[in-house]
Amino acid sequence: SSVVKTDQQHTGARAGAPVDLVGADLEVPLVQGGTTRYANLDHAASTPALREVVHRLAEVAPYYSSVHRGAGYASQVSTALYEAARSGVAAFVRARPADAVVFTRNTTDSLNLLAGCVPEGGEVVVLDVEHHANLLPWRGLPHRILPAEPTLAATLAAAERSLARGPAALLAVTGASNVTGEVPPLAELTRIAHRHGARIAVDAAQLVPHRRVDLAGSDVDYLAFSGHKMYAPYGAGVLVGRRDWLDAGPPHLAGGGAVREVAVDGVAWAAAPERHEAGTPNVLGAVALARACEVLAHVLPEAGPHEAALRGRLVAGLARLPGVRLHRIWSDCADAIGVVTFSVAGYDAGHVAAYLSAEHGIGVRDGRFCAHPAAARLGLPRDGAVRAGFGAGTCPDDVDRLLSAVERLLVEGP
Ligand code: PLP
Repeated sequence: SSVVKTDQQHTGARAGAPVDLVGADLEVPLVQGGTTRYANLDHAASTPALREVVHRLAEVAPYYSSVHRGAGYASQVSTALYEAARSGVAAFVRARPADAVVFTRNTTDSLNLLAGCVPEGGEVVVLDVEHHANLLPWRGLPHRILPAEPTLAATLAAAERSLARGPAALLAVTGASNVTGEVPPLAELTRIAHRHGARIAVDAAQLVPHRRVDLAGSDVDYLAFSGHKMYAPYGAGVLVGRRDWLDAGPPHLAGGGAVREVAVDGVAWAAAPERHEAGTPNVLGAVALARACEVLAHVLPEAGPHEAALRGRLVAGLARLPGVRLHRIWSDCADAIGVVTFSVAGYDAGHVAAYLSAEHGIGVRDGRFCAHPAAARLGLPRDGAVRAGFGAGTCPDDVDRLLSAVERLLVEGP
C-alpha cells in the first residue's frame, strides 16, 4: 500500500508536525494532580513509532512465519517481506549495487560486527567524542583515539595528520553527535579517509532519522543505524556497506542460516549478508524498519526545515535564560540535528529532568548520554547535562512548554 501520507492517515498528527506518531496524544500524570499531554523530547534515545509503521506491523503479522527455509505460503510471504525490507533499506540509503545490507539488532551490534571484519592488523581511528557504541568495539583492535579539537577545522586537520602519519584501515565517525546534535562534514571526512587509504564507517544512529544519507553519492563505506531511533520498534538495526570485508570476516554469530555446507569437521560459511545473520532473524523488526525508511524518504524534505526551525526556537529561547548553558563540541560547526543539550546553574541535571517530567509532563534525558569521554571534553560534571531530542513529530508547543518550564524552575529557585 502507499507510503504517501494522506490526510486520513495523519488526522492524529500534532498541529505543526509533518508526521503522525503513535502516542502523540499520550496523557501523563502530574505530581501536582491532573494530567497533561506528554511532550516527548527524548527522541534521541528512542523515537515513538510512526503510525504507518504500526499499520505495517498489523498488515504483515498474519504471515508471521519462518523465513528462508519454509515451503509454506506464509513462509514464502515472510521471506519475500524480509528480503524486500533489505532492498528497501538499500534504496533509502542509496547503497551501491554491490553493497551488503546486514540486519542486526541495533547500531551497537552493527559496529561490533564491523569491528570483527576489519582486516587483520588494520588500525581504526576514532574521535573521543563518540557514543560508546562507536568507541568500545574498536578497543579490541589496534586503534587511535583522537581528542576532538575546539573547532571542526582543527579536528579535521588532526584527523588528516593522524591518517598521514601511519596507515589506518578505518576512520569511524558519528554522523551526528548524540550529545550535542552537531553534524560533522561527512563528505570532507570521507575524502580525508580515502586520501590516506582508509575506509570510513559512519555511526548514523542519530543522523538517519533526520537527514537523507546517500552512500553511493558520498562514497561513505559503511553505515550503521537502529530502527528504534527512526520511528520503528526496538530490536532491529542495519549495517550497510562494502561487501569484501563482510564476506571475508568471521561470521558475527555462528549457527544455522549463516552456512553453505556443514560437515562434522568443517564448515563453509555463506557470503554476507547471510554470513552474519545466523538464527531466526527479526523479520517484523526489519519490515517495520523498512517501512520507516519509506515514510522518512517522503517526509524528510519537509521535516528537515521543520526541525531546524524548532531547534532555532529552542536554542534562542534557552540562550535568553540566565544560568542556562548550552553545550557544543565545536565552535565552528554550523550544522546540527534536533538535539539540544544544556545545564542549568545551581541544579543537578537529574533534578532538572525529574522536575520537567513530574511537574510539566516533559520527557528529556539527563546524564552523560553513553558518551563519557565526550561529556568530559565538554567539562560536564559526573551527573552530566539535560538533553532535549526531537524530530519530525515534534510540534512548536513541545518546545515552548520546555522553555516555559525551565524559566519557571529558574524563577522558583532551588
Ligand atoms: N550511536 C549513537 C550516536 C547513538 O546515539 C546511539 C544510541 O543512543 C548508539 C550509537 C547506539 O544505538 P543502539 O543503542 O540502538 O545500539
